[in-house]
Amino acid sequence: MDSRTIVRLLAAAGVRLVRIEMADTHGIARSKTVALERFADYVNKGGINFYGGMLLQDASGWDIPPEDQLPPPDYQLRPDLDTLAVLPYAPGEARVIGDLYRDAQPAPEDPRVVCRRLVERFQSAGWLPRSAFEYEFYLIDRVSRSPAFPDRQICSTIRNNMLPEWRDEVLRALAAFGIGFSTLSVENAPGQFEITFTPADGLTAADQAFSFRTALKEISRRYGYDAPFMTKPFINQPASGCHLHHSLIDPTTGANLFADPTDPYGLSPLAWHFLGGLLVHAPALVALLSPTPNDYKRYQPGFFAPTHLCWGPDNRAAAVRIPADAHGAATRIENRFGGAAANPYIALAASLAAGWDGIERALQPPPPVCDDPRRVAGLPTLPRSLEEALDALEADERLCALLGEPFITTYVRVKRWDVEKARQHVPDYGTEAWQSRIDPYEWAEYGELI
Ligand code: GLU
Ligand code: MG
Repeated sequence: MDSRTIVRLLAAAGVRLVRIEMADTHGIARSKTVALERFADYVNKGGINFYGGMLLQDASGWDIPPEDQLPPPDYQLRPDLDTLAVLPYAPGEARVIGDLYRDAQPAPEDPRVVCRRLVERFQSAGWLPRSAFEYEFYLIDRVSRSPAFPDRQICSTIRNNMLPEWRDEVLRALAAFGIGFSTLSVENAPGQFEITFTPADGLTAADQAFSFRTALKEISRRYGYDAPFMTKPFINQPASGCHLHHSLIDPTTGANLFADPTDPYGLSPLAWHFLGGLLVHAPALVALLSPTPNDYKRYQPGFFAPTHLCWGPDNRAAAVRIPADAHGAATRIENRFGGAAANPYIALAASLAAGWDGIERALQPPPPVCDDPRRVAGLPTLPRSLEEALDALEADERLCALLGEPFITTYVRVKRWDVEKARQHVPDYGTEAWQSRIDPYEWAEYGELI
């Protein structure tokens, strides 16, 4: 559609302002708001100027050292009109997601560009990735900093519906982004909720996850709450996970290519190889799916989070699960490595890259684990710290090549700085004492915008 037609339609819908938005390395939404009358110009000239160091900042928005170097040249943030949405929770505003460009080329360090390329790799082989993000998050009172309700009441009807206006505004936002709403319920901790979506195809799944996080934060503030996607806000309560459900679809017939009713677990060879790839690349994947020092407090027994590197049918303690209802068209693999803090573009790209390598090398997963993984001898544990996971990522040449050297270099720089910054602020970083509490530093660094 011609950009002037778009502007005319937006004006008729009452839009005055457009946010041109992207996810930084942490998944934090960054945007510029422009007047509707100028929007067509930015579309036609290939984007809006955006700070060149945008992907090389920490979660508090500081450029990572060394700061004495000349700032990099600006990016152009080029709107992707497929993502345009009128925001029901921000009257008069629309939002479009963009890709970062430099010298008229997509920037290979931009997580959205990386994710798009992985999706295209699958599509060129005739497979459409279909994915669903399953987010858990806490609602925290902005003044008292306590959870929105004090007790652990999983799926309690009264708790589920304690904030009907907030809920309805969130659901209207989902609809505006084209997100198929599946379920909303209270999770297994004070103040913790889970919202699930129907799966979406290609890059759209990550766009929807990113849009959801930002909208949820913006709406929750109006009701006096923060909605942090920090993975482990309270040491004695469950973490917030971001489970990622995968299948591959035949784009012509719509058939689920992971389904094979003749297999004992209902999985096709393609699905088994994808699963094999997730497990082989697991230590490196963890660096991308559990992106903050805080995330490593999630991998503890007793909280339904994975602790060991294994898969199992309907086993929540396993890192990869075949859910109980994964049959026929719903056949899927659930990647449970990720914490809620994961950048959705990086999470999807990383998981697809691991699956791709599994398919390419016809990797077969080891036998399933149906028991508590702690009772199974010889299972490898998940990395115990971000630095350990980053070492594994840098050593994983195949995964790094699939995600691209410019992205890996940027990501590892930012994340090594996350570790260094935590060390500087928390004298006992990495000790038992650090592992057994949530430090105020973690709230300050990751507790609002992520
Ligand atoms: N909160 C758990 C996690 O950290 C997951 C609970 C569940 O299985 O839904 O992944
Ligand atoms: Mg859950």
